[in-house]
Amino acid sequence: MISNIETKSTTEIQHFQEDKLTELLTYLQEKSTYYQSVFKRHNIDISSINKLGDLAKIPVTTKDDLQQYNNDFICVPKNEIVDYVTTSGTLGNPVTFALTDADLDRLAYNEAISFACAGVSKDDTVQLMTTMDRRFMAGLAYFLGIRKLGASIIRVGAGIPELQWDSILKFKPTYLIAVPSFLLKLIAYAEANKIDYNSSSVKGVICIGESLREKDFSLNLLANKITSKWKVDLFSTYASTEMSTAFTECEQQQGGHHHPELIIVEILDDDNHPVKEGEYGELTITTLGVEAMPLLRFKTGDVVKAHASSCDCGRNTLRLSPVIGRKKQMVKYKGTTLYPPAIYDLLSDFDEIENYIIEISHNEIGTDEILIKIGAKENPQELLSQIKDHCRAKLRVLPMIEFHDVDEINKLKFPKMSRKPILFIDKR
Ligand SMILES: [Zn+2]
Repeated sequence: MISNIETKSTTEIQHFQEDKLTELLTYLQEKSTYYQSVFKRHNIDISSINKLGDLAKIPVTTKDDLQQYNNDFICVPKNEIVDYVTTSGTLGNPVTFALTDADLDRLAYNEAISFACAGVSKDDTVQLMTTMDRRFMAGLAYFLGIRKLGASIIRVGAGIPELQWDSILKFKPTYLIAVPSFLLKLIAYAEANKIDYNSSSVKGVICIGESLREKDFSLNLLANKITSKWKVDLFSTYASTEMSTAFTECEQQQGGHHHPELIIVEILDDDNHPVKEGEYGELTITTLGVEAMPLLRFKTGDVVKAHASSCDCGRNTLRLSPVIGRKKQMVKYKGTTLYPPAIYDLLSDFDEIENYIIEISHNEIGTDEILIKIGAKENPQELLSQIKDHCRAKLRVLPMIEFHDVDEINKLKFPKMSRKPILFIDKR
């Protein structure tokens, strides 16, 4: 399953997207309370926007806009909505996303072509290790995508290594969909229970939520730690509720492929101008084919780079680099710019670290300060000097490091109502 447009020339892809953009603008003008008011306020005549480059005439949409005017983004009457999900908002309250029947079909199509891109086919059985409920979009999207692809799925859900292994041994899945750090728990469980994981049916894992690769696409520490033990292929996929679209690696593993029929991609600098080719910037997206809550020039907050050269898999669509961080979480520390994921990656190399949380604050002279709070059981002094060496080598700077009780860090990590563990607290 490969969509036709992906192997067309970049010029054809661009023209195809420009036609889709015209359709979208007409739709928004007619149905979206939010964008009607943006067009009016900024005197935008949508008929003057024909090229992708013309998008620059339209203001960007921020996460704050989405939260503040949440209901104005909905383009359909309430009785056409079939599913509600939420995402965590930047201003405190969660943001609601509504989906119509056609939006669920679009999600299914998106995941089906994304899984196919990673090599999953009708003959495969896939074990889903993420939550399908709790107002998440992702788990449902994976289920629908696997169903559309015609493959089989086992919905085990998150956690519980024992049940995961029971299902692997019973149903013999060929692929898993999992958070990569959870694979370490699966390996540990298998080792403790004498399960020979390298002779299991699993040949690949579609990895969600955490990065697998360095900027040059080589495996990062976490991914190396997994594959040094378990000989499986790891595929990265990157998506969000707002995008309702995934960027998934093909077998070449050189970045997540863009699906031109589903989303327009821009990479913008701090002034909302496109960055030069090959530079990092904030991923800004325009959804295509979404009925209930289409987004126009939505700034995702994720810092990425686009690779424009055609891929050895035969696709000519652009490929996104790993997300190096969140725009808002950028830390300027002792003259170095860094993003928290670089620290997560470094800490994941230490088995002795039970848990951790990173706090960023302003010090009295107004510059950023990094404090890593670590929960560990044994030998903090020896561990501390190893972590310090690692920081100097990998980050080129040395943040403050404190050791705490494991339970105490857990309380910070899992606050009430949060569906995901928190690794980063921004006090700036
Ligand atoms: Zn490719």
